[in-house]
Amino acid sequence: MPMSHSFSKRLSPILPDIVDTFGTPFHIYDETGICDTCDTLNSVFTPIEGFKEYFAVKALPNPHIMEILHKKGFGFDCSSVPELALSRKIGAKGNDIMFTSNNTSLAQFTQAMGHGGCILNLDDISLISKLPAIPDVICFRYNPGPGRSGNHIIGSPVEAKFGVSHDQIQAAYEKAIQMGVKRFGIHTMLASNERNYAYMVETADMLLDIVTDLLQHLGIRFEFINIGGGLGIPYSPNDQPFDLAAMALGIRKSLEKFKEKHSWVPGLYMESGRYITGPHGVLVTSVINHKQIYRDYVGVDASMAALMRPGMYGAYHHVHVHGKDHLPVSGPVDVVGALCENNDKFAIQRPLPKTCEGDILVIHDTGAHGHSMGFNYNGHLRPKELMLQKDGSVALIRRAETMADYFATLDFAPQVMRFI
Ligand SMILES: *Cc1c(COP(=O)(O)O)cnc(C)c1O
Repeated sequence: MPMSHSFSKRLSPILPDIVDTFGTPFHIYDETGICDTCDTLNSVFTPIEGFKEYFAVKALPNPHIMEILHKKGFGFDCSSVPELALSRKIGAKGNDIMFTSNNTSLAQFTQAMGHGGCILNLDDISLISKLPAIPDVICFRYNPGPGRSGNHIIGSPVEAKFGVSHDQIQAAYEKAIQMGVKRFGIHTMLASNERNYAYMVETADMLLDIVTDLLQHLGIRFEFINIGGGLGIPYSPNDQPFDLAAMALGIRKSLEKFKEKHSWVPGLYMESGRYITGPHGVLVTSVINHKQIYRDYVGVDASMAALMRPGMYGAYHHVHVHGKDHLPVSGPVDVVGALCENNDKFAIQRPLPKTCEGDILVIHDTGAHGHSMGFNYNGHLRPKELMLQKDGSVALIRRAETMADYFATLDFAPQVMRFI
């Protein structure tokens, strides 16, 4: 079931007061749920030597949330300079940060290697000679190409712009050795929102095969394998949840087998985003209009500026009408925002109980790739973020964007140049 019963039970009684105080729309995240997921992840993977989760910052780049994750022992997976700065701002440094970028500029590498450094995850063989200095540790992102199939969101590895190809991977590490790098890891990220745990075990096995290969050919003893993120969550009530314990057990067996054979074993890194925070956030929005033309529309005060996933991937997000859960559903409706794009729809042909203006709609599972994917197209401003804290209080953890924010990039000294 999307949105946990426990979150719903704590949020529902106070939701009208939260709406009255803060106004809609907003995302609200559940500290209890996030902490529980962190604890589960840690306990399930603790038996694995050298396990570390690097939270994918892009999923929920809010320092208040990141602080909670950091206290749980998580590091951060960053792919831009602002994401690095966010992670460092809350005290992460060095091995707590992984920089997994693509089509990276020298300026980005300089930032990544400065300020206490981080683990560099290189996306191409050519980048090793472009680094501003020789790092202690080098990791390459491996793209198996036709060796594996990807999935809907991330696409087939052959068509993906990410990573080092199978044919280049040995040469990439060879080059790193020649440049004096002494410590190594290997990374891959193949699937997104994948709910089949066996896929993740296969990914770990695939990396262990490469590790064995490179041990034989180059004598490298890898410090870690990083299997990426992509663990799925049940967005639809019909979806089965991801079996985290089975995944951990499967990978543990593979690592133990590896250790028996080689008498050493690389650590296991993961960089989940969605699985950690996705189910622990909802977007709360008010019904402001109804419209009946060829279809019935429910107009709300949020738009795809607050949540792109339905418009971008056709993603399903469960929706419930606050206080009307017990009522029978009526004819299907499209739940829409105000943006001048026909894909500005949170739900399409969805059976919902009959709504009135002022009703509160709760859009589930917006805790990852929700607010962070928002944009300002059409002059729409991103909403605020709140956190339902463990003690039951509600904290504003990001204010809504204002007109002043929208105009901020137009505020500069005049600059006109003539080139002819
Ligand atoms: C987006 C991304 C992740 C996180 O993906 P989730 O689906 O949120 O787990 C991890 N690693 C990399 C390199 C990514 O681009």
